[in-house]
Amino acid sequence: MMASLNTFPLSFKVKGRRIVIVGGSDEALNKVRLVSKTTASIEIYSRQIEADFSAFPVSLHERALAPGDIAGAALVFVAEEGEDAELAKAEARRLGIPLNVVDVPAECDFYTPSIVERAPLTVAISTEGDAPVLARLVRAQIEALLAPGIGKIASMAGGLRQKVESLIQDGAARRRYYEDLVTRPGMGPAEAERLLADHAAHGRGQGMVWLIGAGPGAEDLLTLRAQRALQQADVIVHDQLVPAAVVEMGRRDAEQVCVGKARGHHSFSQAQINTLLVRLAGEGKRVARLKSGDPMVFGRAGEEIAALRKAGLAYEIVPGVSAALAAAADTATPVTLRRTSSGFVMATAHGADDGDLMHWAALAQSGLTLALYMGKAIAAETAALLVAHGAAPDLPIGIVVNAGRAESASYSGTLGRLAAGAVDFVDGPAIILVGRAVAHGDWANAAEAAASNFKVA
Ligand code: SAH
Repeated sequence: MMASLNTFPLSFKVKGRRIVIVGGSDEALNKVRLVSKTTASIEIYSRQIEADFSAFPVSLHERALAPGDIAGAALVFVAEEGEDAELAKAEARRLGIPLNVVDVPAECDFYTPSIVERAPLTVAISTEGDAPVLARLVRAQIEALLAPGIGKIASMAGGLRQKVESLIQDGAARRRYYEDLVTRPGMGPAEAERLLADHAAHGRGQGMVWLIGAGPGAEDLLTLRAQRALQQADVIVHDQLVPAAVVEMGRRDAEQVCVGKARGHHSFSQAQINTLLVRLAGEGKRVARLKSGDPMVFGRAGEEIAALRKAGLAYEIVPGVSAALAAAADTATPVTLRRTSSGFVMATAHGADDGDLMHWAALAQSGLTLALYMGKAIAAETAALLVAHGAAPDLPIGIVVNAGRAESASYSGTLGRLAAGAVDFVDGPAIILVGRAVAHGDWANAAEAAASNFKVA
């Protein structure tokens, strides 16, 4: 059974009223910061005003407190000790005015929650007893989750209320409209009206697809935008490479479809995936198409976008951290470096569908840092191809398996040594980095964390 609450969270009306704060130090300032978000008039009383209140619209009274100062206040905060503090407490209690004594829970009638503000929307987080740290932590998470524009949308929803009521009679259908309104990206007044017309006519808005980069596989390398989109989607369509923990960041009741392209079992062809996306969005669903890394880098996004465009369906691209960047981060490798590497190429180790010769020659002779995708199983052949096309055998290389994830493992060596023999890598996807800049990375540390099969000679 859940423990019963000893406090009850409320939203307390303070419009047109006074809030009295007794104290002139930083503690008083902290309370001012909090209550100055309201339209109440704030009065500070202290014989000694030390903190700088100039940034806030408060009236300062640098004097002893008089009994009449408390009367009529909506709330009283006591943020100092001494004679004035005792008077304020006694008066507040006598007059039945809710009292907060800073840092003395036993003397408080109420506590102030942590607040996430998206006026006219506020989210208040309170903890019972001594867990302010927890409240602050949760607050930071909620701050990140709530789009900055959500308040504007909430106001817009308020403005549309009459229209909504006249166009949509059913209560549940209205709720669906509002939910759609606050969770869709890019809603301005015109879009909100169009959405309302769609809901009034079809009981739903238009479907859409987010092409979302999930990053290299750690939940905290999702972007905030990706996470928001995942929370809003009706269906999540994801690749095999996206770990369950990342998919779990999505809305709980969202339908999940794995179109896994794990080697060996091609459950969905690209054409089938395109058809699936068009069908789902066509049914009015909001679809999160979750791809590993960045969707525009070796993600077949081009084909999916073309299919959606052809079907006249809306889509939005949410970028993600591509595996090469996670590999660079894991090994502290600056892929561009003054006087060493003036650029960075993301390329496939599988060669080009056409013009193979040009692919390898261009890579081998570019002098830039290379990040090769999809090359783990053919690492030795890839290195040999680069050398055959003119790359120096002593070029430093580094391989990062499971980049950006807890189980990240790395290997370092030279192009020549990699070409000479197969390496027994740990399981997982890998990026091969090639170039002079690679030697500036922190491979010693990374190699220690994993079985290092070969080292720079
Ligand atoms: N869109 C993805 C790439 C998909 S292609 C991105 O931007 O990262 C699949 C290839 O990506 C894999 O063969 C591997 O080379 C690379 N890859 C994906 N996740 C990886 C990871 N966590 N660590 C290393 N390489 C990864």
